[in-house]
Amino acid sequence: MPTALLSVYDKTGIADLAKSLSELGWSLVSSGGTAKAIADAGVDVTDVVEWTGVPAILGHRVVTLHPKVHGGILADPTDAEHQADMAAYGITPIDLVVGNLYPFGADLDSFDHGSGSAIDMIDIGGPAMVRAAAKNHAFVGVVVDPAAYDGVVEELRADGELSAATRRRLARDAFAHTAEYDAAIVTWFDQSDDAELAANGSPVLPASIHLALEQAQPLRYGENPHQDGARYRQVGATSWWDSMTQHGGKELSYLNVFDTEAAWRLVNRFDDPAVVVVKHANPCGVALADDIGAAYVAANACDPVSAFGGIVAANRTVTKEMAEPLSSVFTEVVVAPGFDDDALEILTAKKNLRVMSANAPSPLPFDMRPVDGGLLVQHPDVVGGRTDAWTVVTDAQPSDQQWIDLEFAWQVCAAVSSNAIVYAKDGQAFGIGAGQQNRLDSARIAADRSDGRAVGGACASDAFFPFRDGLDAAAAAGITAVIQPGGSVRDEEVIAAANEHGITMVFTSTRHFRH
Ligand code: 5GP
Repeated sequence: MPTALLSVYDKTGIADLAKSLSELGWSLVSSGGTAKAIADAGVDVTDVVEWTGVPAILGHRVVTLHPKVHGGILADPTDAEHQADMAAYGITPIDLVVGNLYPFGADLDSFDHGSGSAIDMIDIGGPAMVRAAAKNHAFVGVVVDPAAYDGVVEELRADGELSAATRRRLARDAFAHTAEYDAAIVTWFDQSDDAELAANGSPVLPASIHLALEQAQPLRYGENPHQDGARYRQVGATSWWDSMTQHGGKELSYLNVFDTEAAWRLVNRFDDPAVVVVKHANPCGVALADDIGAAYVAANACDPVSAFGGIVAANRTVTKEMAEPLSSVFTEVVVAPGFDDDALEILTAKKNLRVMSANAPSPLPFDMRPVDGGLLVQHPDVVGGRTDAWTVVTDAQPSDQQWIDLEFAWQVCAAVSSNAIVYAKDGQAFGIGAGQQNRLDSARIAADRSDGRAVGGACASDAFFPFRDGLDAAAAAGITAVIQPGGSVRDEEVIAAANEHGITMVFTSTRHFRH
C-alpha cells in the first residue's frame, strides 16, 4: 500500500485529493491541520505525531522533522544499506509528498499557525520535506501546487503510478517553489536593512535582488529573425501583461512587446483622453483631446511618416471614431483599456493588427538592464509635474496656455531617447527629435518634423542646452516657451539668447536622460 504524506498550509483541494488517493488504495499521513481537514471530509488519515510517536514540540516548530518522516522520503529502495536502516528504525517508505509552505510575506495577522511574526512565518519543516522528496524524485512524487492535484490523480488512476518524467517535472517545480520562497526571505532581510537605512536619511537600492524568472511567452524571434526571443516574467509577480487580452492579429513579436511597453506606460501618464504612437521605442505622436477619436487623429498627424507600422496606445476605450481612421493606417499593435463593439469589429477585421486590451501598468520598483555578469539597477525615472522647483529664468513669464504646453512637452520629452527635444502646442506634439548624439540635431529634427506647426508652442529639452545653438534652432521653429533642467556652465548665455528671442524659459532642475 503506497503512502502519501500531506502537509499543506493552503488547504485548497486537499480533501478531494485525499479522498481520491484513499479510493486508489493509498494510506495517508498528515500534519495536524491538514489531517483535520482530511478527517473532516470523512477520509481515513494518520496524524504524523502518531506516526512518528513524537508530539509536535517547541511550540510546533518541530512536527515533521523526524527520521521516520525524512527517512521514509529519502530512502532508496534499491540500496541495501538504506533498507537495513529502515528495518532497524521502523521506517516506512513515503511515495508521495504533498506540501505547500507557510505564506511568508503575507499579512502577519492572517497567519494561523503561530504568533504571527515574520520569523514565525519562515517554514522549515515544509521546505525540508518538499526538498527531500524532490531530491529523491527517482522514487518519490512531490506536489506543491494545488493546481497540479487533478493531473496527479488522473495519472495515478490511469497508470497506478507517476511516471519518471512526471516525478522529474514535479521535482523541478518543487525546487522552483522553495527557491522562490528563500528568495522572498532574503528580500525581507534586505528590505529590513533598507528600511533602517532609509530612516537614517537616503532611500537606498537593496543590497541584493533575487530574481527568479520564468518564460511567459515565446516570441517568433528576437530583435532580428536570426535571434531567438521570448518574454520572461518574474516568478510570483503580476504585471499588466498578465491582464492583457489579445483580440486579434498575429502573434506578438519581440519588438511589439518592447514598443508596446513604452507606449502603454507613456499613455497611462495622462489624465485627459490621450493617444501615443510609438516607433522603435520612441513616441512619434502624442496628443490629448476631448475624446479618444480626436486624440488619435492628432497623434497620428504629428509624424504620419514615422507612424507607419507603429504601436498605438490609447488611455480610453477605443470608439468607432478612433477605430475608423486607425484602420486606414498600417499599424502593428493597438492597446487600450477596452474597445467598443463596433470599434473591435473594425479593428479585428484587419488580420495583421494586434488588438490588445489590458490594465494600466503599475510603477516598476526598479529599472534594470543587463551588463556583463549582472544588471545595472536604478530607481525608475519618475517624471513630476510643475512644482516650486520650476523657475522662470527669463524676462518673459509663461502664459496659462504656455504653462500647459510646457508641462505636456516635458512629460513627452522624458519618454524620448536622449538627446530629446520635443515641440508641442495645444496638447499635441508636433516635432519629436530623439536619440541624437548632440542636442542641436535633435532640435533641428524636431523643427523639421513640426514644419511650422509648432509656431507659438513649447519646446522641452531632456537635459540642459550646453550652447545657445539648440535654443536658436527652437526659436527659428517659432517656439515661444522652453522647458529644460538648466545647470549648464553656459546657462547665462542660453538665458540671454531666450531673452533676445522674447522666449519664456523654465528651469525644472531635474534631468530626464533616457538611454
Ligand atoms: P497543518 O495545517 O497541517 O498543521 O500544517 C501545515 C503546514 O505546516 C505546511 O505549510 C507545512 O509546510 C508546515 N510544516 C510541515 N512540517 C512542519 C514542521 O515540522 N514544523 C512546522 N512549524 N511546520 C511544518
